[in-house]
Parts: sequence; structure tokens; C-alpha cells
Amino acid sequence: MLDKKKIKEKLESERDLLLEELRGMGKLNPETGDWEAIPEEQSTPEADENDKADRFEDFEARSSMLRTLEPRLNNILKALKGLNRESFGKCIVCKKDIEQARLEANPAAQTCKKHKENI
Ligand SMILES: [Zn+2]
Repeated sequence: MLDKKKIKEKLESERDLLLEELRGMGKLNPETGDWEAIPEEQSTPEADENDKADRFEDFEARSSMLRTLEPRLNNILKALKGLNRESFGKCIVCKKDIEQARLEANPAAQTCKKHKENI
């Protein structure tokens, strides 16, 4: 029997961790629903070109990190929403139960092991 409560707790703690990471690097744009990197505060008005380049690289790094984290967060939010549905824990390809170990490792999984390459 699938322990939904345990999975829900795991999902919620993962969501909180991800949100914390995302908030450290960017902010949620309420209009688009996307996370955007925050440029670092300019420390001195007469920063030299090297500083500007560093900040730009840093901003780029944050942006790409956000692009990696955001789909993970969305996956978790989707899994949390789907947790109450009858179809939770079923492979979307073959409709069979997803292996419990797989679900515990990745509660957002939507397919069984066999079909994980199919989506
Ligand atoms: Zn399957």
C-alpha cells in the first residue's frame, strides 16, 4: 500500500528546500509566474569593467540555476496536486502502479521504471 502521507511530507520538504534556494537567487515574477534572477547590488558606482563582467557572469549563473530548479519545483507542485487523485502512483504510459521504491526516490515520477524514457 502506497504511503501517501510519507510521500506528501517528502514532497513538501523538497518544495520548501527548493523555494529557499530559488529565493536566494531570484524572485518570482507574479505576472509570468517565472522565477527571475536578481542582479547583485552594485557596491560602488564606479565599478570597473572586470567587476561588471563578474556580476554579469554571476547573473548568468543564477539564471541558469533558476532554469534548472524551476522545472523541479513545478514537478513537485504538480505531484503534490496529483497526490489526491485516484491516478496518483500510476504510470501514465501503461497505467500500472509505479514501483514504490521509485516513487519514494522521486515522488514526482509519472511513469514506471520501464516507461521512464517514454515521456
Ligand atoms: Zn509503465
